[in-house]
Amino acid sequence: MRSVITGVAGVGKTTVLDIVSKQTGIRIVNYGTLMFELAKKRGLVENRDQMRKLSREIQIDLQKNAGTEIGKMDNVIVDTHMSIKTPFGYLPGLPEWVLREINASVYIIIEAPPDLILKRRQNDPTRSRDEDSLESIREHQEINRAFAAAYSIFSGATVKIITNEEGKPDKAAQDIIKVIAVD
Ligand code: ATP
Ligand code: MG
Repeated sequence: MRSVITGVAGVGKTTVLDIVSKQTGIRIVNYGTLMFELAKKRGLVENRDQMRKLSREIQIDLQKNAGTEIGKMDNVIVDTHMSIKTPFGYLPGLPEWVLREINASVYIIIEAPPDLILKRRQNDPTRSRDEDSLESIREHQEINRAFAAAYSIFSGATVKIITNEEGKPDKAAQDIIKVIAVD
C-alpha cells in the first residue's frame, strides 16, 4: 500500500512520521529528496536549492520520474505537500501526471491550529522557515483540504485528516497507523 502524507510546514510531519516509521518499519520517502537524488544522478545539480533554478521542463520531468520510482515501491509513505505556496499562487504538489504514477490508496493531511503551528515554527531552531501570518496558515490548511478532495475524486483514494495535538505526536502517529494498517 502507498500512502501520501502532507501538512503545512511546522505542523509536525517529520516528528510524527519518525514515530510511525519506528513503530511499523514502513519506509518514508520524501518526494523532494527523491527528485534531488534523480537530478544529482543526471549531473544537473549539486545541492537541493539549485533544483528551483532548473528549467520548468526539466523540473516537471524530475517530478514525473520521482513519481514513477515511487510507483514501483510497495508499502511506502510519501512525505510531500498537497499544495506549495509560491509567489504566483498555490502550486499542486501532486499534478495529474504524478498522481497517476503514485497511485496512492489514501491521502492524509496532518493539521493543527494555526497559532500552534506558528509557535512550533518559532520554537524549532533546527530550521529556517518562512515568515507567515495566522491568516495565511489558516488559508493554506483550507486550500490543502480542497486539493485533497480534488486528488481523491480523480484517483478514488480516501482522504483522512489527522490532528497533531500539542504535546501528543504519539497520538497522531497512532491515528495514522490505524489508517495505513488496513491492508
Ligand atoms: P516541514 O514541512 O517544514 O519539514 P514538519 O511538518 O516536518 O515541518 P516538524 O519538523 O516535525 O514539522 O515539527 C516542527 C516543530 O514542532 C519541531 O520543533 C517539533 O519538535 C514540534 N512538534 C511536532 N509535533 C508536536 C506536537 N504534537 N506538540 C508540540 N510540538 C510538536
Ligand atoms: Mg519535515
